[in-house]
Amino acid sequence: AGHNKRKIIQQMSNATIIDEKVFNDCLKDITRALLQADVQFMLVRDMQTNIKKIVNLDHIAAGHNKRKIIQQAIFNELCKILDPGKPAFSLKKGKTSVVMFVGLQGSGKTTTCTKYAYYHQKKGWKPALVCADTFRAGAFDQLKQNATKAKIPFYGSYTESDPVRIAVEGVERFKEENCDLIIVDTSGRHKQEAALFEEMRQVFEATVDLVIFVMDSSIGQAAFDQAQAFKHSVAVGAVIVTKMDGHAKGGGALSAVAATKSPVIFIGMGEHMNEFEVFDVKPFVSRLLGMGDWSGFMDKIHEVAPMEQQTELLQKLSEGPFTLGIMYKQFQNILQMGSADQVISMLPGVDQELMCQGSVKERQAKCKRYMTIMDSITNEELDNPKLMNESRIMRIATGSGRQVKDVTDMLEEYKILSKAWEGTMKGLKKKGGRSALS
Ligand code: GDP
Ligand code: MG
Repeated sequence: AGHNKRKIIQQMSNATIIDEKVFNDCLKDITRALLQADVQFMLVRDMQTNIKKIVNLDHIAAGHNKRKIIQQAIFNELCKILDPGKPAFSLKKGKTSVVMFVGLQGSGKTTTCTKYAYYHQKKGWKPALVCADTFRAGAFDQLKQNATKAKIPFYGSYTESDPVRIAVEGVERFKEENCDLIIVDTSGRHKQEAALFEEMRQVFEATVDLVIFVMDSSIGQAAFDQAQAFKHSVAVGAVIVTKMDGHAKGGGALSAVAATKSPVIFIGMGEHMNEFEVFDVKPFVSRLLGMGDWSGFMDKIHEVAPMEQQTELLQKLSEGPFTLGIMYKQFQNILQMGSADQVISMLPGVDQELMCQGSVKERQAKCKRYMTIMDSITNEELDNPKLMNESRIMRIATGSGRQVKDVTDMLEEYKILSKAWEGTMKGLKKKGGRSALS
């Protein structure tokens, strides 16, 4: 689909006058991409209808960029779906809030609880974790381990089997200790959670301030029903989408918002405590559409590359062609960042067929493999890939102990990345902004 989409968008760029057919082709292709990204069928259909209403081709005044208008309309429509129409519930620092996490088993609740606590702790809150999952063996140990690592106080029991009792005791204890953010982890069976929530409400007279629904980004089309089931059991007020570092593009988030009428507040980007990002609708939608997330990518670069290297790198990027040497540095940064795919998936124009194929480990291995090959490339060649010819490729293959095909694969990848970068740089220069889209 990614390839088709590129083709279609290219086709649209080339067409001076956009007719009905190009428009429909474009819509059809984007529809396919959205379905593949797990956006619910009904939402996609509604969006299609809306787009057709919004973009009345005949009424777009001459001289306006029709392609741009269509793209923007689709983009806006998706952003709108992600906006439940009310702001995220805001907690107040210094005033005790109780936040309960719900979601299916394995969705990432326990991991996300710690991330959420850690995030707030860094911002000066006094969080605490309560393990009210008495169902899964080892649940308390897992939370304890996470909490200890993050130096966050925790409460739980190995012997008590009543989750409500633990929750009550834990919340009381941490209220006494003046914690302002008490996070209650649960087991993830929504029928039981309904009872837990009911009882907690009775006991605390509604002191659960916020229920967060945690959703695995890879659950696909099941997202809507699942979110709705939880919403029926408990008063879900916010959504966190986890495992966005994997294959899934997280289109299920749109379903979760639609079903719970609550905003997405964070996304999980890995197993580690700091792999947690505040949800930002524009880059999320860009990624959903396979358009890349330029600003997210830049933020990552800022995080890892030393300042002087960044400037140099950006200077080179904006001035000259994207050379193999730049790609090498890029890969180096990516490996330093730990998770190659996280960054690569954000690169505008790059999608599954290329770097994002395979597991995180496979992708990292690929980066490393390419770097080994590039180690056998002369500086001259790194700066000027046009020098590459058959005999040089042979020499590089021999020098790096790789097959000729590995070298040509690497060069192929380079070509695609190079095109993506240059396209983005051009777009950036024209707009003078940071985002490739907005
Ligand atoms: P729970 O059953 O809902 O409490 O889920 P857990 O927190 O135990 O998580 C289940 C698995 O998903 C664990 O192996 C976590 O490390 C993993 N996990 C959670 N969040 C993320 C994420 O954002 N990215 C990745 N890659 N793994 C995650
Ligand atoms: Mg758990």
